[in-house]
Amino acid sequence: MKIAEIHIYQHDLPVKNGPYTMANAEVWALDTTLVKIVTDTGVVGWGETCPVGPTYAEAFAGGARAALIQMAPDLIGTGCLPLILHRQMNALLNGHTYAKAALDIAVHDALGKHLGLSVADLLGGALTDRVPSYYATGVGAPDDIAKLAREKRDEGYPRLQIKVGGRPVEIDIETIRKVWETVGTTTRLAVDGNRGWNTRDALRVSRECGDIPFIMEQPCNSIDELRQIRPQIRHALYMDENSVDLATVVQAVGTGLVDGFGMKVTRIGGLHPMRSFRDICAARNLPHTCDDNWGGDIIAAACTHVGATVAPDRLEGVWIAGPYIDGHYDPENGVKVDGGHISVPQRPGLGVVPEETAFGAPIASFGG
Ligand SMILES: [Mg+2]
Repeated sequence: MKIAEIHIYQHDLPVKNGPYTMANAEVWALDTTLVKIVTDTGVVGWGETCPVGPTYAEAFAGGARAALIQMAPDLIGTGCLPLILHRQMNALLNGHTYAKAALDIAVHDALGKHLGLSVADLLGGALTDRVPSYYATGVGAPDDIAKLAREKRDEGYPRLQIKVGGRPVEIDIETIRKVWETVGTTTRLAVDGNRGWNTRDALRVSRECGDIPFIMEQPCNSIDELRQIRPQIRHALYMDENSVDLATVVQAVGTGLVDGFGMKVTRIGGLHPMRSFRDICAARNLPHTCDDNWGGDIIAAACTHVGATVAPDRLEGVWIAGPYIDGHYDPENGVKVDGGHISVPQRPGLGVVPEETAFGAPIASFGG
């Protein structure tokens, strides 16, 4: 089975009650990119990539589409198999893993449909049919975030992630403490700086909140800064934005730099490298999330499928953008958080089929 056609779509996802605020980005709407492949046997596969604006990471929506358009003509006729696809993509373009991920997801979707297997089964097999999610608050006023934390705990989220950074650290400390006083140990806590603190602030937070059991996610901008604070902090340290490829992950795991990861499927290049990432973490018993930036049902399904293949005691949760955006691509089988958990789609491939008309005409088409 070979790739016969590639169609690229642009779609805007409005943020509910926007903006969503992080240390380095304010998000009102998401510019997402969808990819449809059609194989020479007529099977359709969908992929998606959705950077969170142009400042969150070294990725942006226009870059994703340019990279896809660069590669697509030379991918027509490529085998519809993940390793074959990645070898061909890497022969055509260096880097740009977040763009390659959309094609990787589409190939997994098509291959699963062809074989009658879910994507989770293609990745080794689902260990559960329902994965835990976690709720990420935006950066907000201490009392507001504590109230939100209570609501989300009550909805059943087994984990909350409190966003911090981009403001005086005293307000971050007050926020963390108010959340802790509100929810205590009834849900697990992560504090995510999204690279927004300097080492001074990260050290101060860990010292002044030493009695609060949270994990500290990507507090500072660089791996050097993480290395600097590592021996001095009291909290488990997770890497998110710095883990841009498997080589970085191997080094962070091998040197004991981190206690876990926030991992995003499109940042690492798709489901095929995500599978390797999962197994590297398993070899050293490190917990991690299975997330993405934002995006709609396609990305949400991809994250949920891979999350279902992670040993439950190492799965920190699957974050999807569903609770923050309106509507679904697949009105019937859209991926939803219910009671803080997500049901794994059961149909072959990703298990979600978008209503294509919602995306309008493709911005570019190849093959066919
Ligand atoms: Mg994070």
